[in-house]
Amino acid sequence: MVDRIEFEGVPASGGIGIGKTHILEERQDDISPEKIQEEEIQFHVDKCNRAFRKIKEEFIKLKDGTDGEVADIIDAQIESLKDPELYKKILEKIESERYEAEYAIYSTLNEYIHIMENADAEWLNERTIDLMAIRDQLIDAARNRELGGQLEPGSVVFATNVSPTTMIELSRNSIAALVMQKGGLTTHAVILAQSLDIPCVIGVEWKIRRFKNSEEVIVDGEQGLVVVRPLDSEKKKYQKRRKEKEEEAVKFLQVVKKPSETACGKKFKLQANVEFLEELPRVKTHGADGVGLLRTETILFQKTGFDVASQLDFYRKVVDASGDSDVTIRLFDAGGDKLLDDSETEANPFLGWRGIRMLLDKSELLNNQLEAIYKLSGEFKNRIKLLVPMVSCVSEVYRLKEKINEVKEKLNKEDVEFDPNLPVGVMIEVPSVAIMADKIAKEVDFFSIGTNDLTQYTLAVDRGNEKISSLYQPYHPAIWKLIQMTAGGAKKSGIPVTVCGEMASKPKAAACLLGLGIENLSMTTGALPVVKSLLCSQSLKDMRKLSGQVLDANSPEEVIALMDSFGE
Ligand code: PEP
Ligand code: MG
Repeated sequence: MVDRIEFEGVPASGGIGIGKTHILEERQDDISPEKIQEEEIQFHVDKCNRAFRKIKEEFIKLKDGTDGEVADIIDAQIESLKDPELYKKILEKIESERYEAEYAIYSTLNEYIHIMENADAEWLNERTIDLMAIRDQLIDAARNRELGGQLEPGSVVFATNVSPTTMIELSRNSIAALVMQKGGLTTHAVILAQSLDIPCVIGVEWKIRRFKNSEEVIVDGEQGLVVVRPLDSEKKKYQKRRKEKEEEAVKFLQVVKKPSETACGKKFKLQANVEFLEELPRVKTHGADGVGLLRTETILFQKTGFDVASQLDFYRKVVDASGDSDVTIRLFDAGGDKLLDDSETEANPFLGWRGIRMLLDKSELLNNQLEAIYKLSGEFKNRIKLLVPMVSCVSEVYRLKEKINEVKEKLNKEDVEFDPNLPVGVMIEVPSVAIMADKIAKEVDFFSIGTNDLTQYTLAVDRGNEKISSLYQPYHPAIWKLIQMTAGGAKKSGIPVTVCGEMASKPKAAACLLGLGIENLSMTTGALPVVKSLLCSQSLKDMRKLSGQVLDANSPEEVIALMDSFGE
């Protein structure tokens, strides 16, 4: 009997996932020469055989319906894979030299490639490209990288790290849970997992050799527990818990029909953070009063839809799904952990060419997006707002306004209707703008506090680095002080403030924000019912008391203790 394996990690998105393991490995340009133990040889031989079989099948499928030169090329590829010498060499590297399958494939094919590159005959030189492609495909197949057809719905995906784009693909494949080695609580894959109710555990040191694909696994997203090959008794326990959770979720959803007001009658507004079309049905079902943050980077990552018409199409779908409520569209916030294909490598991407900084340098990108948003504002009167990410000084606002004026002039000339007073707000996610909030408030129509970045920039802690995740403390009193300064600065100019960072999605933190006078909260849709439930059950007086104590605290631990005892 093969052993049960238990991993402990950081709980990142709640819920219970029960399914089959699916290992998703990253492609690396250089494959390191990892050695294996004797008992792992068979595993790697199987892996290698599977990869060869799979690629051959793919080539045969590809050949179907082709003829002439194309069919000849594919035949040549199939022949290379059938070369007994090549296969023998790879097996030798696994069995005698004890290398992992990936390295055995990589180094053997590289030897062939090297010989061909240096051959005198031109036709042999040309074949190197084909061999390189075969090498990469074999490695991908050995690593089981492809998602598509291979990923069964209900799989539990084990990955090192997952990019936002991959996360979109995973969610479309209805995965049961996600387990990552890396990442922090505000990495985008995690935010998305929360929004789509996909249980997720991060910081899990799973090792590829300890289990295979299609093994039974349980993920407890609340406790941060992952069990591969669980015992029967555990399976039963978790199936029961999953059912209870589902029933609890249905109960929580009842609260969405209640008015958004505290026990003493103070009104508040809860909105949804949205990034993907897949999330839209939840805006209504989870009782959001519109969209407080539409992250638009997805459009960039999907590589289609940069143009004004496709963007308009995407935005219209979001507005349509938001009933009569308003929608705040944030300009592309590329950079940091949301990299574009043409992003240059930077030593410190989070401190680099990100958000508005990049947009002001990329005129076409910015102009197209502004044009799409202004056109939208003509179609949906008084429902659209524009939000600017990663602002760190007021001059960026001035420069953006110049760009906005150019777009307005263009639309006027073309006789296109738009809202000339479209509210323009800035994200407060860099400490400098929180400190200068009273000055910046005079230049904009609203603030939206991004506590995810505000935390990383204030505490100098990378939000996605699992090594220092214990230092990433959104409840640090310094963050609360900056939030208070922001709210104070906004009040002086009479502009509204929203909190759209993950802090808003934690019920007791939300109560504290309300206590600080912030009445608009925007969050991942999954959190709306729980947050609303708590806010409706407490009085503003108690929330103010809590925020006063929190501002007076010495440490994040003290803040957490205060919150824990709130409402108990
Ligand atoms: C934030 O920084 O809190 C925020 C909402 O923006 P993002 O998570 O997209 O960086
Ligand atoms: Mg941010």
